[in-house]
Amino acid sequence: MKPVIALVGRPNVGKSTIFNRLTRSRDALVADYAGLTRDRIYGKVKEPGFDFILIDTGGLTDQTDNMSDLMRKQAKLAIDEADLILFIVDGRAGLMPTDSDVAQQLRNDGKPVCLVINKTEGERREIISAEFYALGLGEPQVISATQGRGIDSLLAEIKQRIPAVEKIEADEAEVFDENEIRLAVLGRPNVGKSTLINRLLGEERVVAFDEPGTTRDSIHIPFEKDGVNYTLIDTAGVRRRSKVSEKLEKFSVLKTLQALEDANVVMLVLDAHEGIVEQDLHLAGLIVESGRAVVIAVNKWDGLEKSEREWVTTNIERRLPFLNFAKTHFISALHGSGVGLLFKSVRQAFQSAMTKVPTSRLTRVLEDAIADHPPPLVRGRRIKFRYAHLGGKNPPRIIIHGNQTESTPNSYKRYLENTFREALKLQGTPVMIEFKTSD
Ligand code: GDP
Ligand code: GDP
Repeated sequence: MKPVIALVGRPNVGKSTIFNRLTRSRDALVADYAGLTRDRIYGKVKEPGFDFILIDTGGLTDQTDNMSDLMRKQAKLAIDEADLILFIVDGRAGLMPTDSDVAQQLRNDGKPVCLVINKTEGERREIISAEFYALGLGEPQVISATQGRGIDSLLAEIKQRIPAVEKIEADEAEVFDENEIRLAVLGRPNVGKSTLINRLLGEERVVAFDEPGTTRDSIHIPFEKDGVNYTLIDTAGVRRRSKVSEKLEKFSVLKTLQALEDANVVMLVLDAHEGIVEQDLHLAGLIVESGRAVVIAVNKWDGLEKSEREWVTTNIERRLPFLNFAKTHFISALHGSGVGLLFKSVRQAFQSAMTKVPTSRLTRVLEDAIADHPPPLVRGRRIKFRYAHLGGKNPPRIIIHGNQTESTPNSYKRYLENTFREALKLQGTPVMIEFKTSD
């Protein structure tokens, strides 16, 4: 499980600037989907030897709250969800009473905290940090987020304070177990996830039990079906629901992100009675960004008129065009109809996501694609593609080498993506096309 680090601090101290600096450039997959709202409050940070999820709690709290409520909520969120808290203060403004209040709240809880003084450009670190020792949070990190000063040292401090990742590989996807499908069932509250999970697992397996866990934990349930091993990642907490209080599920972005990290394939559950609502779109956005393989289960298909069914189908096509690679099933978890067929699509999506294709084959597909439809001229010169190789799995990353490849228009990139998808019979997974220029 990836460590979670939260940014806490008064408005305007530079939290989002720090956030943007630490999470820079992870846009490869998503940049292509115009109109998709991205979540700028949660991001992934990948550094050599360690990685973590970063939350800006300032973006989560309601800005209309008064300052002390705002700060109390931020700190509570961070304490609940994070492994390490970066408490940001403003070196220019100096120490403020609110800073001291928050520091006390953080100290009382005992969660690891790292004090970060921002906006320190042009100042001597000893002078700037002196007054902040009074917060009782130890040695501060002194940074300037806008100029990038102190960021390396901050990252080194973070690295020291979070658990190391076990295996660092150039190709992250290699750590996946090819013999087990890790399937996350995701959907906003009340779409029928629990009902569906019970169906998928079979009645006898569903025993509610209390399992300690934080708000961001999902339950992992291993099971076997038709000779295939699965681990079901249950964000709904079906098996934890013996307590009435826990029946009230809140949509948690962090829980979703963690589940996406852990999964190979996502089953996105939608509610046919309600169509696509904002929260579905938000969730769908996080899913595409993760690059995971997807199967869509449109639940509660029972008891709908023909016209309602047509409306739902159109609604999905229009509002989730960026998930059009996913196979869509119309099911009733309550009655069981259509549920058995989901497994085939999950297996197919998994196999596609994990596909292995030799360079020779990819290059042939590339050559055929070029022959059918040559790339355009850029500044009077034709873009030249030389060969393609597979750079990763889940999602498959196809790396195309050549000249001037960075000028390839999006429409042509899309054409190549579709051609590869068809030729390699990839279903249910996004495919990433990346260009490398060798001259
Ligand atoms: P947030 O409200 O805590 O998320 O703060 P923002 O990241 O939005 O930053 C508030 C303002 O401070 C913006 O105008 C930033 O450009 C500015 N700012 C952020 N970091 C620095 C810094 O290191 N030095 C200076 N001088 N300004 C900064
Ligand atoms: P969750 O919050 O996503 O886990 O949703 P639940 O599984 O708890 O289901 C929410 C409600 O929808 C419950 O009242 C279910 O009985 C109902 N429900 C679930 N699946 C179906 C279905 O296929 N058809 C109908 N009509 N209702 C369903």
